[in-house]
Amino acid sequence: MEDITSFKELNLIQPLEKAVTKQGYTVPTPIQSKSIPGLLEGKDLIGIAQTGTGKTAAFILPILQRMTEKYPRIIKTLVLTPTRELAAQIGDSFSVYGEFLKFKHTVIFGGVPQRNQCLALAKGVDILVATPGRLLDLMNQRKLTLKDVEFFVLDEADRMLDMGFIHDIKKIIAKLPHKRQSLFFSATMSPEINKLATSLLKNPIYVAAAPQATTVERVKQCMYFVDSSDKEKLLLDLLKQEHLTSVLIFTRTKHKANKVALFLEKHKVSADAIHGNKSQNARTKAIKDFKTGKVKVLVATDIAARGIDIENISHVINFELPNEPESYVHRIGRTARAGAEGTAFSFCAADERNYLRSIEKLIKQKIEIVKHEFHSEAAEKAIGSAAKPRRRTGRQSSRRSKRGSSSQQSNRSQRGNKSSRNSKPKSNNKPKRSFRR
Ligand code: AMP
Repeated sequence: MEDITSFKELNLIQPLEKAVTKQGYTVPTPIQSKSIPGLLEGKDLIGIAQTGTGKTAAFILPILQRMTEKYPRIIKTLVLTPTRELAAQIGDSFSVYGEFLKFKHTVIFGGVPQRNQCLALAKGVDILVATPGRLLDLMNQRKLTLKDVEFFVLDEADRMLDMGFIHDIKKIIAKLPHKRQSLFFSATMSPEINKLATSLLKNPIYVAAAPQATTVERVKQCMYFVDSSDKEKLLLDLLKQEHLTSVLIFTRTKHKANKVALFLEKHKVSADAIHGNKSQNARTKAIKDFKTGKVKVLVATDIAARGIDIENISHVINFELPNEPESYVHRIGRTARAGAEGTAFSFCAADERNYLRSIEKLIKQKIEIVKHEFHSEAAEKAIGSAAKPRRRTGRQSSRRSKRGSSSQQSNRSQRGNKSSRNSKPKSNNKPKRSFRR
């Protein structure tokens, strides 16, 4: 199957082939060429693939083909996905790939009034893309039924578990007919994910596309040791000095995302922030402005940015290192979409050294250090300094506290180490700015 080099060989029906051609795709991505033939035969699938690999088309195209151009307007396909942005994006992909077919789809997610979603459901749809919470709400209100579902996709399963959706997912799966085709996608594999996949799939084909290292390899990565108090200055400096045209900045907290965006706006850099406290409309507008170039910098938290499909991000900047090393891979992958190359800058303060260590262990490489005006010797030398415990708030906090990620545990175990946070941050004889690239 891996020898497939053109969409023609996948034997897609003409309306799908036309849509793919219209998108300018000529060669299927590895996950597409490995998945589509088996999926067209009706097999279940477990796909280890991140966003950016073309996995959305890998499941949408065969599903649309197998739905066989009958339009009864009952839910035959259900796609479950963790975030509203991803749901909206998958909905858009159904419009794109299904342009020359007559299926109707709708997207439902929380954080917005349910009225319009209920109206769309009442009119009848063939395809439903949903986040688990809102789907369960509407199921409980009997606004929809899953009894006719023939195709079920569980997308970003690892993130679902991370976000504490496991119970919701189990309740939803319990309402699906036994006779169905199930597709399961996850960026990472763990015993917990494997258990969920096994409970869901029958004799699945297994496809692993673009292992994490592949994305990592395509991204030029630079590490900036800097005191926390100098991060904003360094950021401003980089944004002015480099040819950074479209920059996605990551912070660990919503508060910090807001703070960085406000700081940039104050310094005449067009910026906006997206995170879970922003209304859906504000998030949609921020992403649109970023995509169209109206806003040069988008500041995001990990969950808000997960899976958002924005092409041509020139740079990812980790204003704060993530406390889960896998998030680093997801973050920097945002600048290397569908084969493109990208650049990622990371700021590391003394109290983030443990995060850096976990990241380098995961990606199995040392990230190149860049010396710069605000270089912090303290941060560079702070090997083994303690990282602050992860602080979570609200719904997510209570959900996540029930489990515990391995990286959190590893950070916790390292926390007893000596901290060098009190070291003097900057010496008087600062190293000259020299962007080693
Ligand atoms: P996904 O991993 O599904 O989020 O897709 C990532 C990006 O790859 C999207 O912008 C798609 O439009 C694009 N894409 C998907 N399949 C192909 C393909 N065969 N050739 C070129 N680009 C593609």
